Amino acid sequence: MAEHHAPALDPNDPRLVEVNDPADIFPELESTAVGDLLRWHNLPESRGSMPLSSARARLLVSMCMDHRADLIIPNEFAYILRSAGGTLRDSDFEVQYAVAVGGVTEIALLAHTDCGMVGVSGKRAKFVDGLVARGGCTADFANNEFDRFSTLYEQHDVVAFVVHECRRLEAMLPSLRATPLLYRVADDKLLQIRTTL
Ligand SMILES: [Zn+2]
Repeated sequence: MAEHHAPALDPNDPRLVEVNDPADIFPELESTAVGDLLRWHNLPESRGSMPLSSARARLLVSMCMDHRADLIIPNEFAYILRSAGGTLRDSDFEVQYAVAVGGVTEIALLAHTDCGMVGVSGKRAKFVDGLVARGGCTADFANNEFDRFSTLYEQHDVVAFVVHECRRLEAMLPSLRATPLLYRVADDKLLQIRTTL
């Protein structure tokens, strides 16, 4: 869902903190499932400690459906919800189920760079033409669908969005630890997000 004229995220954004070494991981994440995710995904030398299977899910991950983002994690480690832009707006029950029945106590919300949902409401012509050409529907139908959905999925600041979603989920489920992260598509690395700025 890349869009080349969408505004790029500033690589020097002070909210973003890279994980290039285990010591870079925020202390409060060190012994969490998100800490393991950061180590296993970002640091190849840490993968010796990665079990082949996790036996039970420890984490719920919410991320965009973008085809360029994939996580390096053990089998059975995480429930994964994917949606356009990674929104959980219509997924409260999935979150509740993963906690209540799946037994997870942590959720990671992943924003990503170059998300197609940034500026999506300006992509009407491309959406309508593409849906007519490859979906086989009428232009009227495509226009109506665009009107129904595009503003709901519009993203401006993807980092602020996942921080906000984390707060919303923690307000709904106060014992749940919700951690915002950024997936950098250019090098497939996960970055931490400072929420105190
Ligand atoms: Zn995206």
